[in-house]
Amino acid sequence: MSTTGQISKPSAEGTRLAELWDIFPEEAGADERGVLTIGGVAVDELAERYGTPLQIIDEEGLRRQARRFSAGLRERWPNSEVLYASKSFPVVGMYKLAQEEGLSIDVAGGGEIKLALAAGVDPKILHFHGNAKSDDELKIALDAGVGTIIVDNEDELDRLERLLERPQKLLLRIIPGVEAETHASQATGGVKSKFGLPMDQAKHAIERMQAHPLMEFEGVHIHIGSQILNTRQFAESVANISTSGEFGTYDVGGGLGVKYTYEEEAPSVEDYLDAIVAAAREHLPEGARLMIEPGRSVVARSGISLYRATSVKRTGDVFVAVDGGMADQLDIALTDQRYEAVLAERLLEPWTDSVQLVGRQCESGDLMIDGANFPAPKVGDLVAMATTGAYSYTMTNNYNGALRPAIVFVQNGEERLVARRETYEDLLRLHAPAIDN
Ligand SMILES: *Cc1c(COP(=O)(O)O)cnc(C)c1O
Repeated sequence: MSTTGQISKPSAEGTRLAELWDIFPEEAGADERGVLTIGGVAVDELAERYGTPLQIIDEEGLRRQARRFSAGLRERWPNSEVLYASKSFPVVGMYKLAQEEGLSIDVAGGGEIKLALAAGVDPKILHFHGNAKSDDELKIALDAGVGTIIVDNEDELDRLERLLERPQKLLLRIIPGVEAETHASQATGGVKSKFGLPMDQAKHAIERMQAHPLMEFEGVHIHIGSQILNTRQFAESVANISTSGEFGTYDVGGGLGVKYTYEEEAPSVEDYLDAIVAAAREHLPEGARLMIEPGRSVVARSGISLYRATSVKRTGDVFVAVDGGMADQLDIALTDQRYEAVLAERLLEPWTDSVQLVGRQCESGDLMIDGANFPAPKVGDLVAMATTGAYSYTMTNNYNGALRPAIVFVQNGEERLVARRETYEDLLRLHAPAIDN
């Protein structure tokens, strides 16, 4: 069995294996049978033990990536903080891991606060986001002792004026007016964004916070969007936030994009940090606190989704249907995200066929990959989809009665179950019985 440091990453004629290793998890490889391994465990064994669909996380690669951010920013700008944007993979085991690797944590909503607390995260490192925080959620945050609240609007300040009983650190989200080069659903910093306040209105909100005895206004926050592949856009957003005034803290958000497909290229964490910090040196006050909020780029590559092919149909096209789909990979339909997949037990066979990889939900839009290259597929094949660590599990749903997949973390030849598979009993739990006996 492969172990860390000596993972076999073969290439083979008629395949794209050599390129595959750049998009699969860092600790991915192939065993002597040509079966995909993650963290030293062959995925067919994981499928046997936990079933499919299965979310598999390379824990070592994930920890390494988390440290690239936490150590990398600290080295470049010591008065800094990296917040893991937890909506990208809101899983108790991940909150714990993030804290262990030196990341603070972004939460949006009462549910994410509860998940973080369940992981034993120190509430002081929580940063509470959201454009529609309710009284109840703010109470949860204040009762828990959440470190910082990122205020979105003046209605939220009205609420805080009613609810605050202790001093509370606050940031204000402002609209930078930066149109991110990404899918429209993922751009959040344009002038018409629903998030935050434009600079002119921000002034009034800041004055209110500064005048309030319990509000400790620390600075401003922006977030221009997600899956951004051009580091110049981050530099622009730093220049932009600096025009809002001189404050103690500047939180410049998340959004670094990752490589999903063979063709795509993404900046490294180091290139991204260099760009942000160079812009900070140029535009921000010297002693200011600099914060970033990566989500996708922390977790995406470490995760794969494992499915079983349930049918292979040669009709208008070759359709390979699997036992998952839109219910566990909603972002394909939502944001046009593209992925790569392989037949996980047949890596070394020539990838001769081009197929439509489809899910099991009743939508033609449930097309997972348009033109996946596989060896001639057959029923029962294991299909591994790459780069699904971010925004997959978080958007799982019960469409067509689908059950949420289990999650296993794998490291050094051992796996641990981090979330169990949803059951039919779970599915029925919320419903009043229609049949009274
Ligand atoms: C979603 C989000 C992030 C993280 O974005 P990624 O693209 O996952 O890095 C950071 N900050 C805020 C406010 C967000 O809404």
